[in-house]
Amino acid sequence: MIRLKYFPTQDYSFLLDENHYVYDHIETEDSLHIYIKSKEHSCACPVCGKMSSTPHATYKRKFQDTPIHCKQTFLHANVYKYDCENPECDCKVFMEGLPFAKPSQVRTDALNTLILATSMFLSNEGAGKVLSLLGVQVSNDTVQRLYDRIEFIGDPDVEEIGIDDAAIRKGQTYATAIYDLRDHHLIALLGGRDGGPLKEWLKSHNKVRLVARDRASAYASAISEVLPGCVQVADRFHLLQNLLGYMKDIFKEEMPPQIYIQDGNISEKAPEKILKEKTPEGSFLESLHYGNTPPVDPSGNVIAYDNKKHDLNSAQYQHQEKTREKNSN
Ligand SMILES: [Zn+2]
Repeated sequence: MIRLKYFPTQDYSFLLDENHYVYDHIETEDSLHIYIKSKEHSCACPVCGKMSSTPHATYKRKFQDTPIHCKQTFLHANVYKYDCENPECDCKVFMEGLPFAKPSQVRTDALNTLILATSMFLSNEGAGKVLSLLGVQVSNDTVQRLYDRIEFIGDPDVEEIGIDDAAIRKGQTYATAIYDLRDHHLIALLGGRDGGPLKEWLKSHNKVRLVARDRASAYASAISEVLPGCVQVADRFHLLQNLLGYMKDIFKEEMPPQIYIQDGNISEKAPEKILKEKTPEGSFLESLHYGNTPPVDPSGNVIAYDNKKHDLNSAQYQHQEKTREKNSN
């Protein structure tokens, strides 16, 4: 009797969390539909925060998800509404929170992240094409809406910031990016790079005492004007850039525009060019033959090099052989 060592799995928990399971799927030529169901579990009321384990009803939601095998992939979710168990609470019924999408979203968080990550380096049109190859259907307008929804969360108490100019749309429009130096996350993106908007921003962030900035003097004067006590340092990137710039200037002066190396030695002037005509190797030419005799292997057997019928005695072949022999002499 053969003992089975492997068994098919029913566990698809890696796709979802412990409160949801897959119960069916339908695959078509270009799409994949995964049907998921909530398990009854306890859920916090979004208004009062009290945990509830009293399901009220189920409802259906449909999300586009990250594609599997480059097929447009949908999650069809059959999930619960819960009764709030707190009699004092204004919220009577609430929808359970899903770990992969917020209320009213039609795409999962993971898919939105994929769309943003892809379109960050491409035009909206280019991103649409790449995503469609991957199995994501998304309109240019949707990509733009996702971008428009990104918000930078400011911090009026920030003390140490980095300032740099950033190009939006490949060098056509410039912006001033402000980072929190503790973890380098973006806290503001201001229009232009002339220092004007930066002045306004600094007025409402007057706890700033250290700025790492690039070499732009517009930023330097804006900072000195609004926060004269603030320490300004050049950031590492721009220090290195400065250093490399100066080193290049020094080397340019010291070094000739061209350096010639001949036989391992540096020479002052360009080596003379020597023209040398190559004569063909006689023994190689001797080994070629121009006749119609078929090729043979080392033991003398004819090598059949294709399966066509060649009548080597036909007038056409005879004529070609004569021409080749004539040209070779
Ligand atoms: Zn409640």
